[in-house]
Amino acid sequence: MKLITKADKIKNILTNWMRQYPDSKHDITRKLRGVITEDEISNIIGNASWTYNPCYECESDCEVVVQIGQEPDYDSCTTNVCLKCLREAVVMATPLVSSTMPH
Ligand SMILES: [Zn+2]
Repeated sequence: MKLITKADKIKNILTNWMRQYPDSKHDITRKLRGVITEDEISNIIGNASWTYNPCYECESDCEVVVQIGQEPDYDSCTTNVCLKCLREAVVMATPLVSSTMPH
């Protein structure tokens, strides 16, 4: 499991962008230097995909999600879930678990 935060996506935008687009003279790369907000990033890149931090249960764009499952890959079994949905999952499963587990 691993925490994925929107704050980290914003903080690491230049590193993440250059991993995919290594040309440091690229127009967007130059504009991304020193940006600090999600809106700035979206305006420069032209969409919000680089800071979008989805929960795949409720489909919200979240500040924090927990990544569960296999290391993400093309055909991996991996999902990202927000804290609200994790709490709901625990509440849903707890009566079943506590009735079958020794105390
Ligand atoms: Zn959720």
